[in-house]
Amino acid sequence: MSVNYVQLNQLQSIISNIFDIEERINEVSETLKDKEAILNKSKQDYIQIKRKCESLTEDITTLKIKHEQARILREDKEKQVELITVQREFDSLKKEIDECSKKEQNYLRSFNQKSAVLEEQKAKLEISEEFLQSQEEELKELKKQSEVDLKTLDETLIRKKIERDTLCKDLPQNLLFKFERIIKNKDGIGVVALHGIICQGCHMELPQQFANIVRKNEDINFCPYCSRILYYEESEEDEKIINQIHGDVQTDEKDDGFSIISSDENLFDDI
Ligand SMILES: [Zn+2]
Repeated sequence: MSVNYVQLNQLQSIISNIFDIEERINEVSETLKDKEAILNKSKQDYIQIKRKCESLTEDITTLKIKHEQARILREDKEKQVELITVQREFDSLKKEIDECSKKEQNYLRSFNQKSAVLEEQKAKLEISEEFLQSQEEELKELKKQSEVDLKTLDETLIRKKIERDTLCKDLPQNLLFKFERIIKNKDGIGVVALHGIICQGCHMELPQQFANIVRKNEDINFCPYCSRILYYEESEEDEKIINQIHGDVQTDEKDDGFSIISSDENLFDDI
C-alpha cells in the first residue's frame, strides 16, 4: 500500500476547516448566551430599582400622613392650652405638645431624607431603563445576525463534511478518528515531513530503523514523540544520514557530503 500524502494534507486542511467552523458556531452561540445573560442581569437590576422606588414612595406617603396627623394633634393641643387654668394640667399638656412637635419634626426629617433617596433612585431607574432598552435592541440585532451567520456556517460545515467523507472514504474509521484528534491537539498540523531522521513536527531524532520504514512511504507511521503522521521528504538532512551510515560523522567544518551522496544515491533508490 502506498500512502497518498497529498491527499492526507488535503484532508488535514478540510478537518482543520471543520474544527474552525465548529469553533465559530460555538462562539456565535456563546456570544448570544452572554448577551442574554447581560440582558437578564439588566432586567433584574431594573426590577430591583423599581421595587426600591415603589417602597420609598409608599414610605413617603405614610410619613406625609403621619406628619399631618402629628401637626393636627399638636394644633388641637395648642388650642386646649387657652382653656387650662391649673398649672399642673398646663405642664402636662405642654409636655404632650412638645412630644407631638418632636414627632412632627422627625416625620418631616424622614420624609425629606426618603424623598432625596427617591429622587436618586428615580434617576437610576431612568438610566437602567435606557440601558435595558438598548440591551434589548442589541440582542434583537445580534439574534438576527447570529441566525444568518449560523445558517452560513452550518451550510459550510455540511459541505466540508461531505468533502471530508469523500476524501477519506478509503481511510479506516479509527485512523480518521486518530488523525482528527492529532490535528485538534497539535494546532491543525497532523502530517509532518521527515527530514533525515528528524521529525519536522517535534524536531526529535527518530531511530534510524524507524526512519527507514518511514522513508518507504508504504504505510502510515506516527512519530513516537509527537504522534503526528510522518512522510518522507528529501532534504539536506539525508546527507548527514548517509555519512552516519558510513561511519563518517558529519561536522560543520567537514562539508564534503555532496560527493558521498552522489556515490551512494542507490541507498534510497528503492523508496
Ligand atoms: Zn514528532
